[in-house]
Amino acid sequence: MALSHCFWTAKSSFKKVEMEMVEYILQGHELQNDVQTMIQVFLPNRRYLQKETVGGGEITVVSRMEKGIASAMLYRHGEKRAEQSMAYDPQTLTEKEQKRIIKRTIYELLKEETGIRPQWGLLTGVRPAKLISAMLAEGKSDAECIAFLTEQYLVRQHKAELALTVAKAEQKLLAGNRPEEISLYIGIPFCPTRCLYCSFTAYPLAQYQNRVDEYLDALCKELEFLAEYSRNFILKNIYIGGGTPTSLDEGQLERLLQKVEELFRPTAAEMEYTVEAGRPDTITAEKLRLLKAYGVNRISINPQTMNDETLRRIGRKHSVEEIRRVFWQARQAGHENINMDLILGLPGETAADVRHTMEEIEKLMPDNVTVHTLAVKRASRLREELEQYDMTTAQVLEEMLDIAAQYAKKMGMEPYYMYRQKNMVGNFENVGYCHPGKEGVYNIQIMEEKQTILAAGAGASTKTVDPSTDRIERVFNVKSVEDYIGRIDEMIERKKAGLPQGGRI
Ligand code: SF4
Repeated sequence: MALSHCFWTAKSSFKKVEMEMVEYILQGHELQNDVQTMIQVFLPNRRYLQKETVGGGEITVVSRMEKGIASAMLYRHGEKRAEQSMAYDPQTLTEKEQKRIIKRTIYELLKEETGIRPQWGLLTGVRPAKLISAMLAEGKSDAECIAFLTEQYLVRQHKAELALTVAKAEQKLLAGNRPEEISLYIGIPFCPTRCLYCSFTAYPLAQYQNRVDEYLDALCKELEFLAEYSRNFILKNIYIGGGTPTSLDEGQLERLLQKVEELFRPTAAEMEYTVEAGRPDTITAEKLRLLKAYGVNRISINPQTMNDETLRRIGRKHSVEEIRRVFWQARQAGHENINMDLILGLPGETAADVRHTMEEIEKLMPDNVTVHTLAVKRASRLREELEQYDMTTAQVLEEMLDIAAQYAKKMGMEPYYMYRQKNMVGNFENVGYCHPGKEGVYNIQIMEEKQTILAAGAGASTKTVDPSTDRIERVFNVKSVEDYIGRIDEMIERKKAGLPQGGRI
């Protein structure tokens, strides 16, 4: 028996999402996270609650593992509706296999009930290519990797092939990593307005205009400390993100770029120096010129969609025409590596809208295109107002992803990095495509966690990686702009205490 109307169906393009509660119960194991994330794949954007016993809730999933039998059971209003079981050998059960079996029973249960067949099967982690990377490192063949994903984890063939392509591209780019190499992230947490789906540390410029200079004072102080700390290392990547760094006015932007130049000398040809220009309504010809003059060799101009109506709906205050204008201005200013971020599954968009977006992007021919699928984050306005929007179904999103992949291929681009987030519509993936040689290496470093990334700014987190053990330590900055300005000395002290000392990270 199929579940109620609240599940996505294949019949309609949109579904108003209802904030329904899903309860779950664990019996004979404690794999809470695996159970909840597997349920979320089929029933996203609900509220989830672990319980002890079956009550009268709309939906309850029971996951049980005992005496060689793993089962998943579905209850509606306290009445059992379906069950899936599989046998296992308790003598030889590893932790990894236990997780796989638990997920498999829930997968079979909810697949039957919802009619959804997730393209990534049982894989719920952030990095789908990770398993493949490990297998390639063990010397497994391409065919063995694909068979493992499709047979053990029920990943669909084309997604398994995508994971293999990405794992190989990442391996190639990370192969040159040396222990003394590090990256630097600089956060500018201001934006002209807050996008509907935003969950980042981003403050509306109109309210914070008079704090920006003080923010830069604090940021410069933190950068001075990090420059001193990192003297014995080789800086490979600088990434200025946010927020929207180009929210700074021209004078403020130049002040920041000058400081970075003075402290980190980012002119070495092999250094990747990225600035997320982001919102077209913050970009001017002069800012593009400054970025080029100070050695920035990779920028992002992020339309998200090339449909004016959607831009309005998501809270952007610029038009598609402006996106085109700043893109050509960037080319005129000499920017030869431009990324464009897109989001699939924005409220109200159809597959035809995505096709239109890709046609427009193809005319611009950027060097990178990063295709995200919408994630409904807890801290976003979208999450609060979810019931007001038409959300894309998993089936339509699948079509949208295929359209984006086709156009990327048509533009001569290859997928080179991929990650997933929780609460992504349909549990799909974000993929970075690029022309050969135009990869954003910082993106891979941050995803693979193989390199130390020093980070400055409100909400930024520094992550040190010990290359001999892969041990990761984190030092967090406060999120609020006011706290960051007022407590900058404490942020520096935190780093002095938290960063490994003695010239070794
Ligand atoms: S541009 Fe990015 S950081 Fe700024 S509000 Fe939009 S999603 Fe948030």
